[in-house]
Amino acid sequence: MPRPFSHVFSAVALLTASLPAAVTASAHAQDVSPSGPARDSVARVVRGDAPRPRLAVVLSIDQFRADYLTRLGDLFLPASPGRGRLGGFRYLMSQGAHFANARFEHYPLYTGPGHAVLLTGSHPYKNGIVGNEWWDPKNRRPVYCVDDARWKVVGAAEGSRAKPMGPLNLRSSTIGDELKLATAGRARVVAVALKDRAAILMSGHATDSAVWFDDAGGRWITSTAYAKDGKLPAWAEKVNSEAIPDKALGTTWTPSLSPEVLAARSFDPKLVPGAGPYGLGTKFPHKVGAEKTSQNYRAFTLTPAANAYVFETAKRAVAAEGLGKDDVPDLLCVNLSTNDYLGHAFGPYSPEATDLTVQTDRLLADFLTYLDKNVPGGMKSVVFVLTADHGVTPIPEDASEPPFGLNAGRFEAAEVVKVIGGALTARFGEPAGGSWFSRGAEAEGGRAATGEFVEGFVYLSPEAVASAIAGGKARDRRDLERAACDAVNGAGIQGVWGCYGKSQVLEGAVGDHDLGKHLARAVHPQLTGDLIVLSEQMYLAGSAVPAYATSHGTPYAYDTHVPVVVSAPGLIKPGVYAGKAAPSDIAPTLSLLLGVELPSGCDGSPLVPALQP
Ligand SMILES: [Zn+2]
Repeated sequence: MPRPFSHVFSAVALLTASLPAAVTASAHAQDVSPSGPARDSVARVVRGDAPRPRLAVVLSIDQFRADYLTRLGDLFLPASPGRGRLGGFRYLMSQGAHFANARFEHYPLYTGPGHAVLLTGSHPYKNGIVGNEWWDPKNRRPVYCVDDARWKVVGAAEGSRAKPMGPLNLRSSTIGDELKLATAGRARVVAVALKDRAAILMSGHATDSAVWFDDAGGRWITSTAYAKDGKLPAWAEKVNSEAIPDKALGTTWTPSLSPEVLAARSFDPKLVPGAGPYGLGTKFPHKVGAEKTSQNYRAFTLTPAANAYVFETAKRAVAAEGLGKDDVPDLLCVNLSTNDYLGHAFGPYSPEATDLTVQTDRLLADFLTYLDKNVPGGMKSVVFVLTADHGVTPIPEDASEPPFGLNAGRFEAAEVVKVIGGALTARFGEPAGGSWFSRGAEAEGGRAATGEFVEGFVYLSPEAVASAIAGGKARDRRDLERAACDAVNGAGIQGVWGCYGKSQVLEGAVGDHDLGKHLARAVHPQLTGDLIVLSEQMYLAGSAVPAYATSHGTPYAYDTHVPVVVSAPGLIKPGVYAGKAAPSDIAPTLSLLLGVELPSGCDGSPLVPALQP
């Protein structure tokens, strides 16, 4: 599965020679002060003849599909806006190596699995993060990817329903973990993200500090997995004491771009469920409610102010933890979740997504300028990675209607479940225990928890399966999986591409095509569901009244295509690289530059074409 090193080297073309100048370098590229004459090289760094980067920063923007960078590129700040300030995306794209055809190679394309890939370089079949959530048939309960009952919640406000989170389910080491091992624990590893799963799955097990957001009270919290003394890091406590989210309550998000620009670059989504998310309304301007309620703190997380809050917190962490201060490399992991929350509600082509992206550019510029001024040696001592955890599907109701008329829509997961149950009963008789599907012992949130259809995976009842085999009705699990999948494949449900059995995937009988490769990297022998139901391109599983306007999760291009931009002056050759790359290549690239072992499950290979020899 890992691409051979030499293959990557020959297949990935550096396009600077053949593309028009406008494509290869921004109009502002000449503004950028060069990082100096080849100050270092990867070879010198690897040999120990030159200093390593002092700080690695990995910034993941949730749901930030690759085209956000290219489609909206002309709206970004210049790479170097003057007065010693750095630009945002354009700075990274012109000073760094921009892999414009980077695609995830796993399944399913959700936040947990995506973030787990970034700094382990591994995929769900090995790293164990097989979904945001999966089903545990043995204990008959859902498992959230960063559930970790070994620990206690730290820093939550009274009335919080936060549960303890930690890295228990992540079976691979991360770059942060390897950095800690390689430096006898001296490296500092820190993560800041609104989402617990982003902070935890990027940074790993040996992390010094990881904080995430709790909408009860609008605060940073953590768990004793990281805060061994039961206290939030002092910098997070300080930010909490400033109650920054409170300042956003009662404010209105008015777009920074003119109505003409927004109209030319985006369109209002046809479908915004309900009255808009968390009381924000369905169109600009969006007002955040004034009361200190969980709903209003959630509304805050959909606005640009939440990105500002994350960056501000990350700056405090850099200062307080002394990241990059000495020559032992440190790691900072940051996730901006707002783009995902907003994208689910308004879609990737909305005025909201456009304005947020442009505002994120300004905030990123400010953050890069901060690093440049506060890390000794500036951005020349920093390796900075910009990427995302997955992309997003166009809202089906927009894509399918004029003027677009694409083949897009939704299908009912319940219909698929019905077909499977019916087929199994017809072939093997009534199931032992009354259901073919694994069911929870108790109802959760008013509905029975079941493994019927969890992010495209279906979990059969172990009791019913064992009984069918013991009674001689089925030879083995394969019999049941095949009967179920034959029925789904034969049912002609619009929006369903097909069904695979877990045994079929583990045995490698998935077809020598792109989807088969994604599936092979999806299935963990112990954790993955019995059946995998793949949707058709641009179709979402759900119901007629969806909770989200759109989503992600499939192995198709719009979900897998994300930016990979790596800036490390002197070590990484700037340019646009159009050859295939994958986010799983980030970890081995960092491993090489930081001089640490590859993470334990690493599948990726270093981004060879961009390495300064
Ligand atoms: Zn996500």
